[in-house]
Amino acid sequence: MIRFENVSKVYARGTRPALDQVSLEVERGEFVFLVGASGSGKSTFLRLVLREERPTSGDIFALGRDLSKVSQWKVPMLRRQIGTVFQDFRLLPNKTVFDNVAIALQVIGKPRHHILTTVPETLETVGLAGKERRLPHELSGGEQQRVAIARAFVNRPAVLLADEPTGNLDPKTSIGIMRLLDRINRTGTTIVMATHDDEIVDQMRKRVVELEDGRTVRDQSRGVYGAAR
Ligand code: ADP
Ligand code: ADP
Repeated sequence: MIRFENVSKVYARGTRPALDQVSLEVERGEFVFLVGASGSGKSTFLRLVLREERPTSGDIFALGRDLSKVSQWKVPMLRRQIGTVFQDFRLLPNKTVFDNVAIALQVIGKPRHHILTTVPETLETVGLAGKERRLPHELSGGEQQRVAIARAFVNRPAVLLADEPTGNLDPKTSIGIMRLLDRINRTGTTIVMATHDDEIVDQMRKRVVELEDGRTVRDQSRGVYGAAR
């Protein structure tokens, strides 16, 4: 689903690489935690998959395509197949819950009848049935993140990338969000989640890839946050 082959990313000439010769394969349906200190390259990895950045050297394959060969005008089509979730939710503050999720389908031209059935279904999946008409500020942080996940998932993307999705949430709320991501993963969606949340990583026992100064220093199936290598 995602393959990095000797990928390096140098943002500015003369600075140390944000990613340094990273080779990594994520199979369809996997759930992978990307862990590592702040600045270790986690977000850079995710941005490269989204073609928000391009590698300085090396090859990246995602969703069956060589990203170096995806022309700029086809990048939006690539991104339609990749859901994204962030620490700060990124909801539209003046739009209802329903509309925040519906927008993901409107921008790709889905017909109104499809939107009117799929959005409520997805909101039910994430545990927000009955909150369709609320505004984001009327929801708790955990509920806002569920809206963001619904928006990312409503289009049933092949891959979901999450950058610190529990970073603004208390531990109990975070566990609820992880259960939801786990459920989405079990529907077949590949998930890559960058996180600092050691308790979550230790509980979930998924594959753990650790970055340190842009290099992969650990890759464990059913790993924990801070294991000895
Ligand atoms: P993480 O997500 O693990 O905190 P990042 O991928 O954000 O790590 O950062 C990796 C390194 O790349 C850091 O040294 C960071 O300062 C640098 N970096 C990230 N984004 C940029 C950018 N747009 N321009 C220049 N340097 C950047
Ligand atoms: P319009 O197409 O004129 O924008 P709609 O009739 O689609 O208006 O929706 C009006 C408002 O009702 C929307 O802003 C949306 O928040 C809400 N809404 C629409 N459909 C549903 C639904 N099935 N469940 C809950 N809220 C809905």
